[in-house]
Amino acid sequence: MLLNPELVDLSPATFELWDDCMSFPNLLVRVQRHQQVTVRYRDEHWQLQSWTVQDGISELLQHECDHLDGILCTMRAIDPHSFRWRPTPA
Ligand SMILES: [Zn+2]
Repeated sequence: MLLNPELVDLSPATFELWDDCMSFPNLLVRVQRHQQVTVRYRDEHWQLQSWTVQDGISELLQHECDHLDGILCTMRAIDPHSFRWRPTPA
């Protein structure tokens, strides 16, 4: 459990991916994310903790922390061509 998470250290290295969101499950959005981030948060005992993560978990934390700031991945689209409908299963 991460209480009051805050991203405190964002790597200069980034990567691109097709992000998705349960707020609009059929839409994919091309975004750029930091390869590594450190999140500072309080645990269930209200103790300050920090956690450094890479790649997929880093992307997830950036996505979720954005939600807390009212930012959706659509607002981080790289360009106007960064939107795609998720292929529907046959
Ligand atoms: Zn989301």
